[in-house]
Amino acid sequence: VELPIHDAVLARAAEFGDIPALIDGTDGTTLSYEQVDRFHRRVAAALAEAGVRKGDVLALHSPNTIAFPTAFYAATRAGATVTTVHPLATAQEFAKQLTDCAARWIITVSPLLDIARRAAELAGGVHEIFVCDSATGHRSLIDMLASAAPEPQLAIDPGEDVAALPYSSGTTGTPKGVMLTHRQIATNLAQLHPAIPAGPGDRVLAVLPFFHIYGLTALMNAPLRQGATVVVLPRFDLEQFLAAIQNHRITALYVAPPIVLALAKHPAVAQYDLSSLKYIVSAAAPLDAHLAAACSQRLGLPPVGQAYGMTELSPGTHVVPLDAMSDAPPGTVGKLIAGTEMRIVSLDDPGKDLPAGESGEILIRGPQVMKGYLGRPDATAAMIDTDGWLHTGDVGHVDEDGWLFVVDRVKELIKYKGFQVAPAELEALLLTHPGIADAAVIGTYDDDGNEIPHAYVVRQPDRTDLSEAEIMMYVAERVAPYKRIRHVNFIDGVPRAASGKILRRQLRERA
Ligand code: ATP
Ligand code: MG
Repeated sequence: VELPIHDAVLARAAEFGDIPALIDGTDGTTLSYEQVDRFHRRVAAALAEAGVRKGDVLALHSPNTIAFPTAFYAATRAGATVTTVHPLATAQEFAKQLTDCAARWIITVSPLLDIARRAAELAGGVHEIFVCDSATGHRSLIDMLASAAPEPQLAIDPGEDVAALPYSSGTTGTPKGVMLTHRQIATNLAQLHPAIPAGPGDRVLAVLPFFHIYGLTALMNAPLRQGATVVVLPRFDLEQFLAAIQNHRITALYVAPPIVLALAKHPAVAQYDLSSLKYIVSAAAPLDAHLAAACSQRLGLPPVGQAYGMTELSPGTHVVPLDAMSDAPPGTVGKLIAGTEMRIVSLDDPGKDLPAGESGEILIRGPQVMKGYLGRPDATAAMIDTDGWLHTGDVGHVDEDGWLFVVDRVKELIKYKGFQVAPAELEALLLTHPGIADAAVIGTYDDDGNEIPHAYVVRQPDRTDLSEAEIMMYVAERVAPYKRIRHVNFIDGVPRAASGKILRRQLRERA
């Protein structure tokens, strides 16, 4: 694909014209395709006039709003590399990201302006802060729509120029800036498209954050490239989410496992008319097959289809195609998309390829493999070998038909007396207990220094009597002895990243 990302996504904007591209799920404000196309060009012109130059890093610091895509595509059209920032980041965290990538510009929203100002002060080097909405003292995107400046005519090299610099979720360590070129992102969109085609009339609900690569791809780039309508919510609130599905007749959901869990278990779900839904896709973290089935059965939908990817893969490599959702084996994350290669290699002997059915580390090679981590050549070299294979750090296996199953991360596997236990498997099992609302499992150490499976459990409000012994017994009756839970703590909530991943790191610190 040889177009810069804004042109690749908005290639058919003129054709889609008056179709709503984005609807604000809280107040109904709508932007048509024609408006997004026109607005982002005007804002690009104004950004260029303000001094944004090709290769400058621009930090986009915003919750999901209908202006987010306009800001993003305007910045890339002005030649900038967009680094998206967690809207709940503290000024210190934001400053760290600004410093790491030497950002020169910020686009924020007025409620976050103070944090953006403080972050810019701490980091230094920021030329100007723009706001999406109006706020005194700063230029807003709304002012910029009136710009008479000429549209920037830049020679963007899709294969070299970095369009986006998302930071990985930081689940396993410090988030790393991932350099993704225009070509990598645009190619991955084209690769994923045949699996889940959408178009005018389809309505997706953008509740996962745009700042994370999953939301950016599944809820912004992919639907806008296809003429679908994106209904935007600023954060996940179950009742607001259910009401939006009902009121906006949402046809497709792209979610992470905690939302599947809520859809499967929460009583409020029954109070809404969710009959417009045609399918649900889950990605970003392991999803148990039983939980997925409970969700789809309750809603009368085809089985929840999964997708698999990571920030470093622009982000996708596997997806359950829409037409295969009913027949795909339960628990699979999908089939390898076109133009991508995969190997599964032994954890003990990394040179050895494993046959179907055997679990090992997943390696990926393809046009969507990142350009590298920003400023971290060592980390890049540790991730991508000299033959171009990216080592995902995830454990999985394929069946005879090529369906991939992800077990867990290599680093999260608990080694109990020489056996390997996947926390994700135990978490899934715990969630099948009716008295358990949520659960996380980590490896901790017993008095003899053995690593043991240790569960953190959130009890259902009506089961506060649920005991450690009952939970341990429930698991012991269902798994091989080496997988038994050896210790249980009760907590109020499982710590999770915005993308839905369990922050096991935080639990380890607590332990
Ligand atoms: P960091 O790399 O900073 O520690 P992270 O790996 O969580 O954070 P992301 O790039 O957002 O950052 O997440 C990619 C990871 O998410 C994958 O490596 C994999 O472990 C997990 N993942 C994604 N999709 C799935 C899925 N369908 N099933 C299981 N795990 C998944
Ligand atoms: Mg990672």
